[in-house]
Amino acid sequence: MTSHRLPRPADVEYPVIGEPLGVELANTRYGTGSDAVDFLDTDVLARGWMREVLGSAGVDDLVLLRELRDAVHAALAAHANGETPTPRVIATVNRHAAAGCATAVLQRTADDALTAGVRYHGAGATRARLATSCIEVLTGPHPVRRCEGVGCTLFFVQQHGRRRFCSDECSHRLRQQRYYRSTP
Ligand SMILES: [Zn+2]
Repeated sequence: MTSHRLPRPADVEYPVIGEPLGVELANTRYGTGSDAVDFLDTDVLARGWMREVLGSAGVDDLVLLRELRDAVHAALAAHANGETPTPRVIATVNRHAAAGCATAVLQRTADDALTAGVRYHGAGATRARLATSCIEVLTGPHPVRRCEGVGCTLFFVQQHGRRRFCSDECSHRLRQQRYYRSTP
């Protein structure tokens, strides 16, 4: 389970695109076939990803984190294809969602308003948080789509009906390719 292609997190540009946490987790498996990259492949990479996305490296078991990631990836892939995830995938997501406990917290905002937040506790707190996000995404009002960018496999939540790309970069790249193809 070691990768020599992605040695140090400092040099790694994680595929983080501002989506809900469950989607970001699935997106750590990037590309297909021989171009596939696993951004949780080593413990160092996985801790780097957690720091970037969650703000701390967490104490969760990384083997279990990868197991959850694979289940979330399978669930989002099925959903994006208009299919229902398998019972096994659903059971895996649910098991990790129960790995920590969540409590409501009262939060004071910068302008002195009050909001409700959620805090996760326990050794599996990170997995519980990520799995819960996956459940929310799969049952939320917006569909999950796959980026239509060439060679891009990232998932995103399609909050408005016209979005087709994970990022402006992917959109621009496709437009450039079309331009070069149509230019003699
Ligand atoms: Zn993309």
